[in-house]
Amino acid sequence: SGVAPLLQLENINASYGRIQVLHSVNIEIQRGELVALVGANGAGKTTLLRTLSGLHQQDSGRILFASQDMHSVSADQRVHAGIVQVPEGRQVFKALSVEDNIQLGAYSRKDSPEAIRADLEHMYETFPILRQKRLQAAGTLSGGQQQMLAMARALMARPKLLLLDEPSMGLAPLIVEEIFNIVSELKRQGMTIFLVEQNAAQALALADRGYVLETGEVVLSGAGADLLKDEKVKEAYLGI
Ligand code: ATP
Repeated sequence: SGVAPLLQLENINASYGRIQVLHSVNIEIQRGELVALVGANGAGKTTLLRTLSGLHQQDSGRILFASQDMHSVSADQRVHAGIVQVPEGRQVFKALSVEDNIQLGAYSRKDSPEAIRADLEHMYETFPILRQKRLQAAGTLSGGQQQMLAMARALMARPKLLLLDEPSMGLAPLIVEEIFNIVSELKRQGMTIFLVEQNAAQALALADRGYVLETGEVVLSGAGADLLKDEKVKEAYLGI
């Protein structure tokens, strides 16, 4: 279509000291797409997200976001530009109330308190359980509820690209389904989402497109539905 992708990762190489963990990774995400990155423990998924967020500096390669080179853009500035991550393990502020946690997501916004209040209301519509528990300490929430809280907090920053790092981690199957339903709903509302998951079956079933990362290399990519049918994916990631 001639429209530049929202995100382009071009030949990203990254290391810790002398150990290279990402090898010439190329990934593109179009506006409105839900793209999954799947791969085993230690494949480099978190490193890729940290690099994209500006928390880890790549050795070489380019990150273009809305056609802008992110090279000298700090992690804070990237959040401001619209790259917002829901971290692995949620990392909510356990002693603060649910509502204060959600509000914290708006810290970098410079628009009116009314706009922020309207978004808070929208979060309570998307996640009704958070309204019920809004005055409770976040630490009293279940794992699934904390994941919802972390997502609501991220959404308060008005992301253009939402990065989800292993949202299903440590959750019971029914709760995972609930979280993935919310991810679908966010996509339906037009959000662009990069979903990083070890849970390949459910992530690929949900995604428009997917990438398979193995020891820091993209070894396969394609439509989510096609990857699900791929013999190598079935064998390595779906236990079939
Ligand atoms: P997980 O699902 O466990 O988070 P992952 O796919 O996200 O796995 P990474 O956490 O990116 O993988 O790790 C990729 C490789 O880099 C692994 O071999 C890991 O041991 C190594 N690694 C990660 N963080 C560091 C670090 N801070 N210092 C050195 N090596 C690291």
